[in-house]
Amino acid sequence: MKLHLLPAGPIQTNAYLLTEPSRGEAVLIDAPGGIWADVAPILVEEKCRLNELWLTHGHWDHMQGAAEVVRQSGAIVRAHGDDQAMFETPEIMSRFAGGRLALEPVKVDRWVGQGDRLGAVGQEVEVRHVPGHCPGNVLFYFEALGAAFVGDALFNGGVGRTDFPGGSMELLAQSILGQIYTLPDATVVYPGHGSATTVGAEKSSNPYVRG
Ligand SMILES: [Zn+2]
Repeated sequence: MKLHLLPAGPIQTNAYLLTEPSRGEAVLIDAPGGIWADVAPILVEEKCRLNELWLTHGHWDHMQGAAEVVRQSGAIVRAHGDDQAMFETPEIMSRFAGGRLALEPVKVDRWVGQGDRLGAVGQEVEVRHVPGHCPGNVLFYFEALGAAFVGDALFNGGVGRTDFPGGSMELLAQSILGQIYTLPDATVVYPGHGSATTVGAEKSSNPYVRG
């Protein structure tokens, strides 16, 4: 399996494209604006089809490119229902998006929830619900790879903002302690912005939530 980190969009939101050329399959985690232009050439080069688009949460910068990805690839979209309103009416968030951005709704095909097991690129994936930054933030945990894609719940040396609608610092701390810091220390945390970190590093040195 190959992992491609593809920061994109107006505020450099991380998209992660996972490809498994031996199976001809790919999954994209999050879809910032314009991401299809970065994804398409990789799919061609590695002869992979994008079967799945997983959205960590409904904020505009993680889904601005989703409708285009779906049009081009036919990928199945999965996300958490607690952010349904933002997926369907993204203009809810447009006042946080710095003015006149084109925000197109995305149709989520399958709602995911705490404890769900998904399969993609030959991997078993566990869904964990980590609200606090927003109501519907989920993480996707690839146990065999020791990797968790956490959206904006936890960053390298930081945590997600909680001053957006539906945000709660208390809830976010609960999510981080109960759902992220309970993963093995060596687990690599791939956040929605900035560089990767590990569960162990954040537990011992994150200035906001210590394990
Ligand atoms: Zn966010």
